Amino acid sequence: MSETASTCPYCGVGCGVLIDAEGGAIRGVRGDPAHPANLGRLCSKGATLHLSAQPGVLASARALHPRMRASREGPMRRVGWDEALEHLAGRFADIVARHGPDAVGFYVSGQLLTEDYYVFNKLAKGLIGTNNIDTNSRLCMSSAVAAYKRALGADAPPPCYEDLDAADCLFIAGSNTAWAHPILFRRIEQARRERPQLKIVVVDPRRTETAEIADLHLALQPGTDVALFHGMLHAMLWDGLVDTAYIARHTAGFEALREAVRPFTPAFAAQLCGLREQDVVQAARWFAGLRDDGGRGATLSLYCQGLNQSSAGTDKNLALLNLHLACGQIGREGAGPLSLTGQPNAMGGREVGGMANLLSGHRDLANAGDRAEVAALWGVDQVPAQPGLTAVDMFRAAAQGRLKALWIACTNPLQSLPNAALVREALQRAELVVVQEAFEHTASAGYAHVLLPAASWGEKQGTVTNSERRISRVRAAVAPPGQARADWEIAADFGRRLEARMRPGRASMFAWPDARAVWNEHRESTRGRDLDITGLSWDLLEREGPQQWPFPTGAARGRQRLYADGRFATPDARARLCAVEYRPVAEARDARFPFALNTGRLRDQWHGMSRSGSVPRLFAHRPAPSVDLHPGDMARRGLAEGDLVRLSSRRGTQVLPARADPGLAPGQAFVAMHWGPEYLGGTAGNGKPTLGVNGLTLDVLDPVSRQPELKHAAVKVLRAELPWRLCAFGWLEQGGEAPLRRALMDALRGLDYLSCVPFGRERCGLALHAAGHEPPDEASLRFVAGVFGLDAPQVLRYRDSRTRDERRVLLRGDALHAVLLCGGPGAVAAEAWLRELLESQAPARTLGRLLLAPGARAPLPAAGARGAQVCNCLDVRAGDIARELAASTGDAADRLAALQRRLGCGTQCGSCLPTLRRMAAEASSLGVPA
Ligand code: SF4
Repeated sequence: MSETASTCPYCGVGCGVLIDAEGGAIRGVRGDPAHPANLGRLCSKGATLHLSAQPGVLASARALHPRMRASREGPMRRVGWDEALEHLAGRFADIVARHGPDAVGFYVSGQLLTEDYYVFNKLAKGLIGTNNIDTNSRLCMSSAVAAYKRALGADAPPPCYEDLDAADCLFIAGSNTAWAHPILFRRIEQARRERPQLKIVVVDPRRTETAEIADLHLALQPGTDVALFHGMLHAMLWDGLVDTAYIARHTAGFEALREAVRPFTPAFAAQLCGLREQDVVQAARWFAGLRDDGGRGATLSLYCQGLNQSSAGTDKNLALLNLHLACGQIGREGAGPLSLTGQPNAMGGREVGGMANLLSGHRDLANAGDRAEVAALWGVDQVPAQPGLTAVDMFRAAAQGRLKALWIACTNPLQSLPNAALVREALQRAELVVVQEAFEHTASAGYAHVLLPAASWGEKQGTVTNSERRISRVRAAVAPPGQARADWEIAADFGRRLEARMRPGRASMFAWPDARAVWNEHRESTRGRDLDITGLSWDLLEREGPQQWPFPTGAARGRQRLYADGRFATPDARARLCAVEYRPVAEARDARFPFALNTGRLRDQWHGMSRSGSVPRLFAHRPAPSVDLHPGDMARRGLAEGDLVRLSSRRGTQVLPARADPGLAPGQAFVAMHWGPEYLGGTAGNGKPTLGVNGLTLDVLDPVSRQPELKHAAVKVLRAELPWRLCAFGWLEQGGEAPLRRALMDALRGLDYLSCVPFGRERCGLALHAAGHEPPDEASLRFVAGVFGLDAPQVLRYRDSRTRDERRVLLRGDALHAVLLCGGPGAVAAEAWLRELLESQAPARTLGRLLLAPGARAPLPAAGARGAQVCNCLDVRAGDIARELAASTGDAADRLAALQRRLGCGTQCGSCLPTLRRMAAEASSLGVPA
């Protein structure tokens, strides 16, 4: 058994992991106690990483060989690397020759390593001569980047994670940290335990698990953040809470800002935001931190997509930075604006300039001197000056036929970009679509002309940078499966073949022997820049572990906190206070589309679920897609939990089960960002397949950052009258989950609603749900039954020839193995207890034909009592917890401790702690038992 220190590939917290491997296979993972980001902790996603590298996943879900198709509709055939890359070099050279370099585009990913990013950037800007390279970080951080640069002069988050331990006030805006950055949330919980006087303010339209620990939850109307921040600044000015000396010494633009916020009295801001005036004032006082003795407590803000994913994302960020600068809440311990990166290496991508408007080493494309420096570094005549196409614009150009070739690496735009119908059009229209992927069954991979298999977590070498500017090593514990190769190697190999055609006879730009050599070249590009890491070496990273930037030559360590001297990265060293205007959301709600659709993460899933979706147990917390609505909105529409509704925006429609969430305000709807066309389907009114949540979202962009407004779309919610229902679930015996899921959804395409989601802990099961006006043809139903083994002679069956309701049940040994229920609206009523019986593998044979009972009530007392999963590590369910709480006494803390002692929940990764705390508090306040 070998142990390899590496980094978690999911979120931007950047936790260190130790990977156990044996015989060339990954066997286990645990948190690295020596890594400063997590000190040994992992959340539910990180703690199950090894399960995404099991042989079954490698065999069925991973891309293992290069493959190509001769025509758009033709089948994929396996080819060698030489054939694939020679073909691509020829096609790219030809397209560039015929249409110019801007006819090609690269859409890459914040999950790539810094070295991968560096090579792609050099390939596009240095060799081909186009700035058409952008990244899915555009959907994530570009508003934060634009604001940091405009206000502070450089794209550099000033604080560090240790500031959580020193802050007096945490101001969390547009971030469900408890679910999206769980290990940071564990640090917040610890800070709260150690310093009960710590104030926590959460700004979020939803009452999330993060909001539940807040002293003040500002549940503002979607898109009104600028009005809130202006109102807070107005209150600070009125009450004399700003730091006039700091403003005078270290900032510019104060007068214009004061004029801009003058109309935003707390009363006016509260009215715009749907808040109480006194709450706006209270938030301002806590943020400013002014104490009676004239001293000032420290305020750290943590913010994420709620600010960034907006048509006013840059302004929202700037308005928050105004608050920090006006109160001197920056550059000192416990204070500063810390944007939380969604992806593991969104920061690294920015460092190498891997976006359409950036250049290596945080250089600017618009600056001729910067372009000349990069051209000299790369040994090319020039770097093009014209900014490239950003993410959404790149796909618009492809849909219009302007972009001929698209190279997509390590991302799934058909799942993640807004207005997915436009992305589908782009993928259908482009002459050449290259998908470089570790996972073969993404929706976008289905449109590839050439599929290139990429190495993934645990299989490649390089570096990533987390949210606090900390560079960590990523290390290989095993060799990549099949013929998969590291992303940078693929790009470099292609680059060498293309340069042989485009600049024959010249020394190669892509001749690195390994990832370390690529990193060394990147390091050189940072010399003299704000992120200078020339004092850092690969050996030092190996020897002493993760380091923060800047780390210039001669420094003994990286700088923990920026701007401590009040000197900013602007020409006059002063930060800019920005008089931004409040603009409402781009798509207003109206009588036709009266709901505000919000999107975001689930606790146990990550982005498009290419990797986390390969671990069935991670679905247990939310086992099916849903649209969450306020219970009052559901009641007014006569909707019960699980009823199907048609959710429609001006761009598309999607049928989904309704789920009540009292944490949402009336008039708001929420769908998790993960539910794309791989797991959720159906047919839209135009007869085309629906595309999941992003079939509905809005592709209006922030004018500066070009980040789309993924957090708000106007939608309507109507009951879906679909009289025919199907539900089939069971354990899989052979074949991979991903291809079977796809085959099942293909078999029933044409129905209005489809979802297919894995489940299970020790084994893998699939649960298929479908609904339509009419049943599908018999052959499709036979196929579905066959996948679950429900066509065998020993299957128990019931069929009503009048209603055509049908129930089938298969037992293996003493336990339930598979179930199919279909027919009229009541035909699937028995699903919940049958599913629990199947998952528990409790003895079921003695029930005999009672298993075909149609009702929602189980014919045995124990079934149907465990409820939804709360603790993923130990599979503890809500029903188990409720029973335990009913038997416990004392206050919430006593009851939580008793739960942890008796059931073990909340003692492992801690991701379920917020839920446990809430359940314990509710039991305590209800006085259960009396
Ligand atoms: Fe990975 Fe969870 Fe850490 Fe994020 S918080 S890096 S998902 S272990």
